[in-house]
Amino acid sequence: MFDRIRAFHRPTTVAQALRAFDAEHRRGGRGRFVAGGTDLVVQRDRTLHWLVDLTCLPLSYVRRVRGGWSIGATTRMGELERSKALLGFANGIVPEAASTCGSQQIRNMGTIGGNLANASPACDLAPPLLALDGSVVIAARGGRRTVRLDRFFRGVNRTVLGGGLLVEVVVPAPPKAAKAAWSWQKLGRLQSDIAVVSAAAGIGVDARGAVTWARIALGAVAPTPIRAKRAETLLVGRILDRAAVDAAAEQATADARPVSDVRATAEYRRAMCRVLVARALGECAARAGRELTSPGDVGRAVRTITPGNEGHRAGRSL
Ligand SMILES: Cc1cc2nc3c(=O)[nH]c(=O)nc-3n(C[C@H](O)[C@H](O)[C@H](O)COP(=O)(O)OP(=O)(O)OC[C@H]3O[C@@H](n4cnc5c(N)ncnc54)[C@H](O)[C@@H]3O)c2cc1C
Repeated sequence: MFDRIRAFHRPTTVAQALRAFDAEHRRGGRGRFVAGGTDLVVQRDRTLHWLVDLTCLPLSYVRRVRGGWSIGATTRMGELERSKALLGFANGIVPEAASTCGSQQIRNMGTIGGNLANASPACDLAPPLLALDGSVVIAARGGRRTVRLDRFFRGVNRTVLGGGLLVEVVVPAPPKAAKAAWSWQKLGRLQSDIAVVSAAAGIGVDARGAVTWARIALGAVAPTPIRAKRAETLLVGRILDRAAVDAAAEQATADARPVSDVRATAEYRRAMCRVLVARALGECAARAGRELTSPGDVGRAVRTITPGNEGHRAGRSL
């Protein structure tokens, strides 16, 4: 499938990678960076003339930085999934999302940088990293810049990279709260399939149980992964109860702009968006010590919406 490739570079430093990319770019033809290749190879783009392989760069790491984390771009999904450090951070939503990214073989190859740079609306790591207020560091010949993840995606398979190299993902320390909790939810045909809808949430509550901050991010319900900021605002200051959760789920769904495709209709995605946001916030509440009443409500809603629809069964147990 790469029958027109005339040059394959394997740099060992970021500077070399940028030089190789720029030199090839000036020489002409089309080319790309390649990391695990799990998106690029499947896309079967026969017009590529050169590739710059990133797998020998020193960009595979997970480091603690000022209460947050810095994750190198070529860190593989499998490494994230097994990272003890990240499992102990934000209820482990980053490793949990990584663990649902395809099969073990895909996770042994696919990287965090490739997942974000490929910019699929359904990419698994974007919602948890968006909810965590993550940023990416982009290196180009002119220097490095940091871009917040909510400004990184530009459309389906489009980002602000513009030929730059994503070198690092930065996750800051979450805001303080008397109690804080996080949750990641994914609905796919099977749990390891591409998401039909996904949602990540985080909340901080004070001693009275009032929400002091809220984060909600959604995947596969818009041309890019998105933050549901109006739903977040709606929660702040309210006591975290079933009514608040339902109102936030309704608002998040109103902000979604899903399409119909081979995996699901837009209508189904909207219905599942409401369910997953409610489920994520319900899990946050439980983890923060506030059990919401009637925990079976969400599961009942799913069963009502999908009678006999085997193709749309949730990856998690209903
Ligand atoms: C069978 C299968 C199942 C999958 N299931 C899932 C799933 O459930 N969830 C999910 O989210 N994804 C899934 N994927 C997609 C894919 O595995 C992930 O998106 C993976 O993280 C991509 O990383 P990669 O290193 O393989 O990227 P590559 O394929 O190497 O690159 C992808 C794109 O990003 C660019 N790129 C890569 N790294 C950088 C960088 N550091 N800087 C700038 N540009 C860069 C490349 O030029 C290319 O355009 C699946 C793929 C397959 C084949």
